[in-house]
Amino acid sequence: MTTPPRIRQVRRLLGAKGLDAILVTALKNVRYLSGFTGSAGFLLLTRKASVFVTDFRYQEQAAHEVNGAEILIEKGKRVSFLRRLLRQHTVRTLGFESSISYAFYEHLNSFGLELKPLRNVFEKMRAVKDIEEIAAIERAALRAEQAFRVIRPWIRSGMRESAVSRRLEAALKQQGCRSIPFEIIVASGPNSSMPHAHPTDRKIEPGDLVIVDWGGEADGYFSDMTRTILVGGGADPKKREIYDIVNRARFEAIRSVRAGKKTQEIDAVARGIIRTAGYGDFFGHSLGHGVGLDVHEYPFVSWARGEKVRNGMVFTVEPGIYLPGVGGVRIEDIVLVKDDTVSILTTLSREAEGGVS
Ligand code: ZN
Ligand code: ZN
Repeated sequence: MTTPPRIRQVRRLLGAKGLDAILVTALKNVRYLSGFTGSAGFLLLTRKASVFVTDFRYQEQAAHEVNGAEILIEKGKRVSFLRRLLRQHTVRTLGFESSISYAFYEHLNSFGLELKPLRNVFEKMRAVKDIEEIAAIERAALRAEQAFRVIRPWIRSGMRESAVSRRLEAALKQQGCRSIPFEIIVASGPNSSMPHAHPTDRKIEPGDLVIVDWGGEADGYFSDMTRTILVGGGADPKKREIYDIVNRARFEAIRSVRAGKKTQEIDAVARGIIRTAGYGDFFGHSLGHGVGLDVHEYPFVSWARGEKVRNGMVFTVEPGIYLPGVGGVRIEDIVLVKDDTVSILTTLSREAEGGVS
């Protein structure tokens, strides 16, 4: 059995951190390292062995999916099974994910091993995508855009936010998304000044700004995008003004993306444009985040976190301006950094009246 590159990467980590083994329990990380997409199982990686453990329900699925690890079906209690397994592999120093529950930590602690917590180690590995992962995110983005095209005619005055959101969700399923990454946001008029509003029964009115933030899925990978529509009829010129500022901030921030830069610098480009235009106090959230197996993951693009941009990273750029009582604008695209250049994976029109191209 050849060792998959991700497992090899973890092995190097074992050496560097002086560990005999690493226990991987977060399901998305288990999937990332082994290929297993079921909802029960863990991975034990020692310097020589890779063992995937699940229960009898997933025996067949594991045989199809798991790559690069021996499959064991646990019998009896998981904790006693794990204890025996660790003893078999003479593990004395064990790395574990710091996200485990306290109850599980207490079990581990009773094994008499030296325990070392690992904080977001696999999450950080996941920030750099391979070709297959990028293709899955592209498919997820394509499905999201196709679904939006289908429901775009319903974003008009007289339609309820909740109805638009239901139609969009149905259209996403129709496109083949098995799940959606988060509750769709459809926020119109005054509701649009709340960055994460839940759809209400409010009817869209002429001149409203309507923020739609939604995502698609393909092969377990997510996409995430936002468009803001300015509904025709008697719009306040201020709405057009903030729309244009946000769109320029988005464009310039994307243009500034380069491998080797800090994500803080990209955030600063968008924030600088919005601040100079006089709306600095109305852009309170960070500029973006990675997307992949989780819809919010590494790298985080904000003023507070200076992560290095690397080739293979996929993240959102989503500036916004939210004026209480007037409305809000957010435009969100997904970018891919590859071969030291940046490309945009989301293509729907960014015209205020558009949304379809
Ligand atoms: Zn986002
Ligand atoms: Zn979003």
